[in-house]
Amino acid sequence: MAASLATCIFCKIVKGEIPCLKLMETESVLAFVDIGPIAKGHSLVIPKHHAATLSDLPESEMADILPALKKIAIASGAQNYNILQNNGRAAHQVVDHVHFHMIPKPAEAGDKE
Ligand code: 5GP
Ligand code: ZN
Repeated sequence: MAASLATCIFCKIVKGEIPCLKLMETESVLAFVDIGPIAKGHSLVIPKHHAATLSDLPESEMADILPALKKIAIASGAQNYNILQNNGRAAHQVVDHVHFHMIPKPAEAGDKE
C-alpha cells in the first residue's frame, strides 16, 4: 500500500526528521544523495509536496523540478548521465513519493564519443 504523508520517508527527509546529504533546495524542491547509489554521484530530486506518482503531482509543484535536475547534473560534473523516474511497483518504484534519479554514467573504454 502507498505510504501516506505521515509515514513517507521522503516527507520525513523534507521535514528534517530523517537526515540526508542535501545538494540543493528551493521552496518546492529538494535534491539529495541517494542512500543506495547505483553509480558515483547518484542523486534524487523530489518535490517537497507529497504525491505518490507523477500522475498525482499538481502542475503547480512541477516548475522547479527540471531546472533542479539540470543544476544537479551540471554540478555533478558528469558528461554522461540518465534521468530516471519510476511510477508504480511494476515500474520498480519503491518509495511512494515522486522522485527523479540523476545517475551519472561513467564513460567506458570502447564507448563511442
Ligand atoms: P525507486 O525504486 O522508488 O525509484 O527508488 C527509490 C530510491 O530511494 C532508491 O534508489 C533508494 O536507494 C533511495 N532511498 C530509499 N530510502 C532512502 C533514504 O532514507 N535516504 C536516501 N537518501 N535515499 C533513500
Ligand atoms: Zn512523501
